[in-house]
Amino acid sequence: MIKVEKITKSFGDLQVLKGIDLVVPAGKLYSIVGPSGAGKTTLLQIIGTLSQPAAGNVFINGQNISIMNERQLSDFRNRQIGFVFQFHYLLPEFSALENVCIPAFIAKTPKKEAEQKAKEYLDFLGLSHRLNHKPGELSGGERQRVAVARALINNPAIILADEPSGNLDTKNREDLHELFFTLRDKFKQTLVIVTHDESFAAQSDAIIRMKDGLIESGGESNLAI
Ligand code: ADP
Repeated sequence: MIKVEKITKSFGDLQVLKGIDLVVPAGKLYSIVGPSGAGKTTLLQIIGTLSQPAAGNVFINGQNISIMNERQLSDFRNRQIGFVFQFHYLLPEFSALENVCIPAFIAKTPKKEAEQKAKEYLDFLGLSHRLNHKPGELSGGERQRVAVARALINNPAIILADEPSGNLDTKNREDLHELFFTLRDKFKQTLVIVTHDESFAAQSDAIIRMKDGLIESGGESNLAI
């Protein structure tokens, strides 16, 4: 479960997050929507420990990540959180299989075991025939699925995605969205997805609407938790 308490964040004079409270229960898929500049990415990065809030606390599975040191944070991030971005950030000189293995190597998984797991995830995502292709030899949809496999390899409790389908055509977008629901239902993962796609958001467990650094609506369903 993710619990965000009274988070604020500024860049210079600009206050980007003005006091965010949010609870995402385990095993749910929440979407975050709102106009550009609302603070969606900043919030996602704070939940993902990529950025520190000015004030407030973030708890993930009961652990207060706001008080962890850099080393604890990077270990926690690598094991507990899978990221999917709009741009895949795959390393161009490595194959699909090697790219997917990277977080497992960082988590000190032995090479053989990491490769076995990477193959299983790539197979699950329909990419078993693309293991040795480099990102430049893959289609946009395939690249994004490799990025999803990379996010999954350490079996993180939480998947955070920032406009993951923003760069995809309709068919690949729909496939990716379906995959997110499968991750929730089959792997019981908790997902928070920043999206501009209202029809996808409408299918998620809750829509968090942000504007000007605040949650405009969608947060109130959390108050009872
Ligand atoms: P959204 O994802 O809703 O479009 P962001 O969280 O990306 O919003 O950005 C919110 C505001 O913070 C924007 O005005 C953006 O320009 C600013 N911002 C984001 N990151 C930085 C940064 N690293 N340095 C300075 N300003 C930033």
